[in-house]
Amino acid sequence: MNKASASEPHTPSALRALGARVGAAARPWLDVLYPPGCARCGDRIRAEDVLCPPCMADMVPYPVTAQSSEEHLAALRFRAAATMMSVGFEFEIDGSVSACIHTMKYRGMHRVARWLGRLIGEQLAGSDVLRGAPALVPVPLHAVKRIERGFNQAEEICHGIARETGLPVVADAVRRVRYTQSQAAMKLHVEERKTNVSNAFTINPRYIDVVRDRPVLLVDDLITTGATMSECASALREQGVRDVRYAAVARPPG
Ligand SMILES: [Zn+2]
Repeated sequence: MNKASASEPHTPSALRALGARVGAAARPWLDVLYPPGCARCGDRIRAEDVLCPPCMADMVPYPVTAQSSEEHLAALRFRAAATMMSVGFEFEIDGSVSACIHTMKYRGMHRVARWLGRLIGEQLAGSDVLRGAPALVPVPLHAVKRIERGFNQAEEICHGIARETGLPVVADAVRRVRYTQSQAAMKLHVEERKTNVSNAFTINPRYIDVVRDRPVLLVDDLITTGATMSECASALREQGVRDVRYAAVARPPG
């Protein structure tokens, strides 16, 4: 995933991150001084894009069908009675999708998350995954990690999906009450992953009534074993949510 300097756009990341924060007013100046680069190959791109056209063409979308939903669920180690699941794109090491996720998470570019969310929203529009107008609920970060990163990428992805579909985002419905180590950073085995996030989530009482009577689409950037999603789903089901679905941008090999 760490693709050395060849994949780094020519832009100092701190300045890019600053550009994302200062908003539209300052961005044209930053674009003149530091033209935006493709998140994967670094080629010049338009300011509103994330990938250049060839890297974008390399993204391989999964179909959004009942059969692929079953296949995605069957591939999870933990599924906690999720009723449906969609995955946006095939995951390739050093591919376009992993470059976007790396740029979003580790270089603090929350606009990449929204952009990915819009792609997912376009894929899901009109599909069974959105039947019954589910509430979009991001897998939460612990408050400490949220402050460190400055944003929750899953929440930004939700806002991108919402922009394409008009569905409501209930950002604070699920809370992470225990600080858990990053599953990826710890290189945990499957069972350890489950223990690491067990009882880490609770439902915010303010939003129980909002999510109880409608389907919930849990959203995250990556889903591997399903341990994190299934803990969130269990917390929702304990509060009476009957129809919990999963959506992820990509599913790396677990
Ligand atoms: Zn490119």
